[in-house]
Amino acid sequence: MNDQNMTPQNMLAAQKEFFLSGQTKPLKFRIKQLKKLKSALIKNEEYFYEAIYKDFGKSKFETYTTELSPVYSELNLSIKKLSQWVKPEKKKTNLANLPGKSYIIPEPLGSVFVIGAWNYPYQLSLIPLISAIAAGNTVVLKPSELSFNASSIIAKILNRVFIPEIIRVIVGGVKETKELLDLNFDKIFFTGSVPVGKIVYQAAAKHLTPVTLELGGKSPTFVLADAKIKMTAKRIVWGKFLNAGQTCVATDYILVDKKIEKKLLEEIKKQISIQFPNFENIPENYVQIINERNFDRLLNLTDTEKVYVGGTYDKAKRMIHPTVLHNITFEDTAMNDEIFGPILPVIAYDNLDEAIHEVKKRPKPLALYIFSSHKKSIKKIHKEISFGGGAVNDTIMHLTNHNLSFGGTGSSGIGNYHGYAGFQAFSHFKSILKKPFWFEPKLKYAPYNDKKLKRLKRLMG
Ligand code: NAD
Repeated sequence: MNDQNMTPQNMLAAQKEFFLSGQTKPLKFRIKQLKKLKSALIKNEEYFYEAIYKDFGKSKFETYTTELSPVYSELNLSIKKLSQWVKPEKKKTNLANLPGKSYIIPEPLGSVFVIGAWNYPYQLSLIPLISAIAAGNTVVLKPSELSFNASSIIAKILNRVFIPEIIRVIVGGVKETKELLDLNFDKIFFTGSVPVGKIVYQAAAKHLTPVTLELGGKSPTFVLADAKIKMTAKRIVWGKFLNAGQTCVATDYILVDKKIEKKLLEEIKKQISIQFPNFENIPENYVQIINERNFDRLLNLTDTEKVYVGGTYDKAKRMIHPTVLHNITFEDTAMNDEIFGPILPVIAYDNLDEAIHEVKKRPKPLALYIFSSHKKSIKKIHKEISFGGGAVNDTIMHLTNHNLSFGGTGSSGIGNYHGYAGFQAFSHFKSILKKPFWFEPKLKYAPYNDKKLKRLKRLMG
């Protein structure tokens, strides 16, 4: 197909035709595409570093650890495990169907639409794409227009390496996304904000298209009285200010036991100066805010009277110093919406139950972290608060374990991915009962009578 001047409609039609031809289904085909993607990424790695640096001054080190390494790891896992994932899975057969056999066959959904966010433009677009290809689908990918350079390099390389019937990357914004959302895809996988998640969900409903929505929200970090303060501060500061706080699972705010508030704040301040000694001098340790709109939004959240550390910025470079706000309550402006930047409000609590209750009253967080060794309290928080996923005595690192599926709950998202969960997100699991011809109980057939009913009740009961 000549992909010049292709309309979204005929692009999807071509993908659907290709899918219906059955060519994406063999294991060999899927592995071949995954290997092709891996070698294209390796060959063009320098371009990926350059592009993201143009978007928000991200260093090579951080681009590798937070973007390319998770993508390679997902590719390697899928290539290694796919032959197991595609196998039909045997299930037990109930008495009424013996001597039959039961099993479940995974099958691809068809032609899917992946919409990415800008904050980790490579992994948030490519990991769902890898899962979709592994599951045997064709993919239209629309990365975010805000990370324009990163999205353009994805498009340039993938559109050169793959034919558009298998993978097509569209660089575009709201208008292009809306046009694509009007089409009848077999699945939509969206990463982004809650308000746009609702737009996507509504558009999907028109065609009864299944969705995975990877959204955001305010993710709390509890620091209990027994926490080892130094390590707690070190891990919180790392996870919060990585990517200048533009991470969906970063600590949004801290809830700390009042008894240790002062010590924790002092240690966080110390950690900021250790981990970000010369933040003004990009590129090594810190990144820029993605655009002016977000920069201004973040400054408006910073109540200057409540700044404990930071609060300074460089508008020309779109840099905001790691900032900690103290004496915060749930009524402060910083507590209204997801922060998604390097501002960290700290709320001190007297009573853990009350703090838990405050979190429970609000939308379900995408992530929740607890720093403590007190088993009873950890269990209590886990039992009482519903949230996507999280960690005890660390932040963010749960994402690096592909054995842990990743996703939100309530307004933080619908569905999961990463590793096998990603394969599941892009598959339908077809349930099959297979019966032999040689046996059939008379019991299920008319004429019915009391004797038969009694026997049936005995068998079923
Ligand atoms: P966003 O919702 O503004 O944009 C996401 C995608 O939607 C982009 O590709 C964009 O082009 C498209 N889009 C924007 N407005 C649209 C509209 N009106 N109609 C159709 N499409 C539209 O989100 P963002 O600013 O890119 O990302 C930040 C948000 O994403 C934060 O809330 C963050 O928590 C969340 N996020 C979640 C995850 C996760 O895995 N759960 C990961 C990263 C970011």
